[in-house]
Amino acid sequence: MNQRSSPSTGDALLAMRDATRVAHAGPAPRLQGGALNPPVHRASTIVYDSVEKYMARHQGLYDEVIYGLYGTQTTYALSNAIATIEGGQHCVLTPSGTSAITLALSAVLGAGDHILVVDSVYGPTRRFLDEVLTRFGVAIDYFDPLAGAAIADQFRDNTRAVYMEAPGSQTFEMIDVPAVTAAARRRGIVTLLDNTWATPLYFRPLAHGVDISIASATKYLSGHSDVMLGALSTASDALYETLKDMAARFGICAAPDDCYLVHRGLRTLDVRLERHQRNARALIAWLQGRAEVRSILYPGLEGDPGYAIWQRDYRGASGLFGVLLDPMDMREASAFFDHFTLFRMGSSWGGYESLIVPAWPAPIRQYRPTPSEGALIRIHAGLEDPDDLIADLERSFARLGRARGR
Ligand SMILES: *Cc1c(COP(=O)(O)O)cnc(C)c1O
Repeated sequence: MNQRSSPSTGDALLAMRDATRVAHAGPAPRLQGGALNPPVHRASTIVYDSVEKYMARHQGLYDEVIYGLYGTQTTYALSNAIATIEGGQHCVLTPSGTSAITLALSAVLGAGDHILVVDSVYGPTRRFLDEVLTRFGVAIDYFDPLAGAAIADQFRDNTRAVYMEAPGSQTFEMIDVPAVTAAARRRGIVTLLDNTWATPLYFRPLAHGVDISIASATKYLSGHSDVMLGALSTASDALYETLKDMAARFGICAAPDDCYLVHRGLRTLDVRLERHQRNARALIAWLQGRAEVRSILYPGLEGDPGYAIWQRDYRGASGLFGVLLDPMDMREASAFFDHFTLFRMGSSWGGYESLIVPAWPAPIRQYRPTPSEGALIRIHAGLEDPDDLIADLERSFARLGRARGR
């Protein structure tokens, strides 16, 4: 059964605003026995009551429920909801953001192809390219996140794809996405963008010419730090079929229970993001007044190198930002990081809780290497009261000051 949006709200929802879309995207209750939320359909085997129906299954209809591997009603409820929010036609769900990335890259690239990848890309994406795809005969070059239309100078005859992520992991550089996608489109090059930071609510990759929009749904879409999921969205029927086929070839499927959790998180995405942004801005305003702070990396901040692009293309900024502090040795770092009351240290972000981690990026960058002087830290502003978070930071700076003997 195709459950794209719902007959009652489906097309109408596409014309509505984001807060309404996230609240309502998915099947109509009457398609699921009146249950308001999509029930969890767990299945491997789907049975048929006639040989005719069995033989007729899977006639190139990619949203059919025919085997658990390809998705159940719960999977399609969420993939259709995300497609609606992305402003696309299609979405493929995967068990993690990382698997979404590796699936998309494997689907569009083959031996002899060349790909251009933004130099500020998420570390595990870079490792998959350098350590895995090179073994299968893919040639990889990195490009300056600030290249814009000049990326065309790096196109080769065999350039098949351009991979972007904005803002950059750890360093938060922005990309002139429309300039890059326009240049790529003229050459028939596929463009992919990891949009995890902004989510489709604050930046619409597909509306800016991107062919495949990538989200780690583990982060804001789920919002509660208790589930892993990835999403690939596209407006192209051909790319959707390629992605869906490749997921089947690799045997990749998102678990219905996980899809349910992310669908539940989606309902509050708009209000959560609003609060994440407000808290991030409150922390940043306070940090800017501290003598220990050298700079803030946050494209939504006036004066940030990415601000002009952010203001032109984005509807909001999320809760993740970088802070460059004066250099600290390990003893000072322990004084600073080890005794927070609210901020926790851990990978990932996008949940309800505030996080703080050192982000000394590995020296692998070709363009605009990260500052070698100073200590770069990464903060995720959670949903707590900002004054409590500021008090927590203040105590930590006091401990750092004592460790430095001032
Ligand atoms: C976390 C993250 C990923 C990977 O997502 P997982 O769900 O953790 O596999 C990819 N890209 C970005 C930008 C991320 O922050």
